[in-house]
Amino acid sequence: MKTLKFALLILLAISIVQCTKDEDNDVPNETTLNQQKIPAEVLSKLESMGFDVKQTSIIPSKGGYIVDGDIFITDETLKKGYFQKQAFFGIVNCNRVGNIRIQNNLGNNAAGRGFQRGVNLWNRLNNTTLNLIPVTSNPDIIVRLARPGEIGGWGLGEFPTNGREGGLIILNLNEPSIDGDPVNAREWGNILAHEIGHNIGFVHAEQDLLGTLVPGTPVGDPNSIMTSGSNPSVVFNARRVSRNDARAVRRMYSNRSNRLCQ
Ligand SMILES: [Zn+2]
Repeated sequence: MKTLKFALLILLAISIVQCTKDEDNDVPNETTLNQQKIPAEVLSKLESMGFDVKQTSIIPSKGGYIVDGDIFITDETLKKGYFQKQAFFGIVNCNRVGNIRIQNNLGNNAAGRGFQRGVNLWNRLNNTTLNLIPVTSNPDIIVRLARPGEIGGWGLGEFPTNGREGGLIILNLNEPSIDGDPVNAREWGNILAHEIGHNIGFVHAEQDLLGTLVPGTPVGDPNSIMTSGSNPSVVFNARRVSRNDARAVRRMYSNRSNRLCQ
């Protein structure tokens, strides 16, 4: 047993050395290379993020690339394919978004106790017209538990259609937390905030091809509440929606002249 562990450690050490070597090969140290020297896979990844690689400056830098002047994209980000950003699939009507009636049909359990936190995480943002109003009848969004086998994962939200917020959120009490314990009320609140994000338009932060980037928000926000279930610790441990989530919501829903809602 001891020997096996030792052998694994050696293997790990070797693979780390190899990784480092690969990175050295992939990333030129000079910053004077022209665009033609950027590896094709890097160009195609950047393209999938929505950059027009023929028009955009891409400068190799230590540990990554500086894209479009001031956006630093690390090699790690390129490898993992995590391009956390704020992007939307649809937008709720300006008038509707200030008065979204949301009903807690979760019952007396940890998810039900987390409901208010999920609502608060969005409602406490200032300088946005987004406002979720908990109600006990005639909801615009109903939040209920999953039926047995209805969904996998922790939850499900629904995108807006025709200016109307998504009407349904489902939470799945049968899914354990990331540490194997039952999901607690605080975590359910965070998950609900994520699902509400879908219902007001957001796609997952690292979905490259889906959605329209919210203008004025950067690519590469590792703290977005809209980070997908493939990296769930971001949502589980969130203390608030990220600064750029807030920035995105203000751009989408506000009284400013450049708001995206109509
Ligand atoms: Zn999601």
